[in-house]
Amino acid sequence: MRDSDVTGAPYFRHKGQPNFGAETAKAKKVTALLRPAFDPRAYLALIYCLARIPLAFFYLVLVGVGLSLSFSLIWAFGIGVPFFVGVLLVAWWAVVFERELGAWWFGFNLRPMATGVTGSSAWWPRLLAFLRNPVTWKSFAYTFIQIPVGFAIGIGVLVGLALAIGMVAAPFLYLLSAASAQPGDPAYNALGMGDSAATLPVLVLVGALGLAIVIGLLHAARLVVTFYEFLARTMLGVSQAQLDLATAQSAVVVEYQRAERSEQDRRQLVVNMGHEIRTPIASIRGHAEALLDGSGKPSQEETKRYLEVIQRETERLGALVDDLLVVARGEAGELRLDLRPVEVAAIAGEVVEALAPIAQRDRKVKLVAQLPEPGAPPATAWADRDRLTQVLMNLVRNGIAYTPEGGIVSVAVNTSGDRVEIAVADTGLGIAAEDLPRIFDRFYRTDESRSRATGGFGLGLAISRDLVEAMAGTIEVASEPGLGSRFTVRLRAAQPEVVS
Ligand code: ADP
Repeated sequence: MRDSDVTGAPYFRHKGQPNFGAETAKAKKVTALLRPAFDPRAYLALIYCLARIPLAFFYLVLVGVGLSLSFSLIWAFGIGVPFFVGVLLVAWWAVVFERELGAWWFGFNLRPMATGVTGSSAWWPRLLAFLRNPVTWKSFAYTFIQIPVGFAIGIGVLVGLALAIGMVAAPFLYLLSAASAQPGDPAYNALGMGDSAATLPVLVLVGALGLAIVIGLLHAARLVVTFYEFLARTMLGVSQAQLDLATAQSAVVVEYQRAERSEQDRRQLVVNMGHEIRTPIASIRGHAEALLDGSGKPSQEETKRYLEVIQRETERLGALVDDLLVVARGEAGELRLDLRPVEVAAIAGEVVEALAPIAQRDRKVKLVAQLPEPGAPPATAWADRDRLTQVLMNLVRNGIAYTPEGGIVSVAVNTSGDRVEIAVADTGLGIAAEDLPRIFDRFYRTDESRSRATGGFGLGLAISRDLVEAMAGTIEVASEPGLGSRFTVRLRAAQPEVVS
């Protein structure tokens, strides 16, 4: 925020008034002159000026007692420095109070007093940062300046106010005494009542002058507040340069931490990947060697079996490479999603249609779709059609893979409020409670699935979650070991008119 952006007390900012002709200009001048009399904040400003007296007195005690004790007596006992730091702290809190008062009463908009870039909660670095902060010393200087300035302003306003009140009260007091005094009273003559025709106008003039002083004081008080806002902005807050630097520094720290995390993730990814591809490569190599080994020629049946293993493992490795490419694109921010309103039930139907025969043939698992009734409003969500298909394929394939023979995997689509819900449920092995929180981590597989010969590399759910979140959706799992699991994807509902 630049200085010019800082909006503070909105005083005296009525420049560039249009000229409405001499008459109106004069009337406007008079209104401007009288305006503070009708502005409650001007009276608040007057109180603010009077409050300078106790504050100046407080600063006098703080600086006087604080400095003399720090530099004289206590210095001798070696605790002068901590005592002085205490004085600085008190000065700091006193100006915090001043800032709050200005912000509360007059809307001072100030920069913070510290940038908080130490980032440490230990007392020693915080103390050092406090002493290194120029605002600490400026605050102390402020308390110094406030002793003469505060007394001068406060006492000036107090005297002016007393004078003005006396002058305004004079004609009323005169009239009161005139009502009770009789000719011949000593007071009667002393007050010049005999010649009241001449005295009263003079006193009315005095009263008017008193009122003029009050209005002048209100104007002055507003000026004092403007002056204090300027003082607070220059002395009681960090500079714009400091603020910019701190913002840049914290951005660097955040960026550094992000880069470090990302580097750690990448290292972990490489380690996991190396670990995971070992087994299929060893298997491929073993079977290929067996085929090439000239010693015992394998039968035709054996050759076919070996080649099938090689083919299956090669396919798995190919799928892993595809998954890794998705992960890498996501990391590099290159995963472009084409979000548009899509008909979710249609996609779910296609996935079920594509996988149902395989589920039945390979695993004797029944795959069913529970889609909205024909004629019901279509379930349309903001999504990337291909990526959503990929997510559902992952979930349904898992359902099929982790459900024993005779089980059922269902895909249900529902609309609930502003969300479209897709639930993939199975009657399979289920997932143990301790595995549930980690199930979406990269390369995480439960012991149950590790012990199986087939299966993925534990990237499917991690990728699915990344994709769903990139579509501004959520994915969650509920599972009961031995009974089955239910994965629920929720996407933002979209208006059905523009379905892709
Ligand atoms: P994978 O490729 O190994 O299936 P995923 O990321 O898709 O990897 O899944 C991670 C792990 O979560 C699986 O290894 C498996 O242990 C468990 N899992 C996923 N879906 C199911 C399910 N429907 N039922 C039981 N366990 C599941």
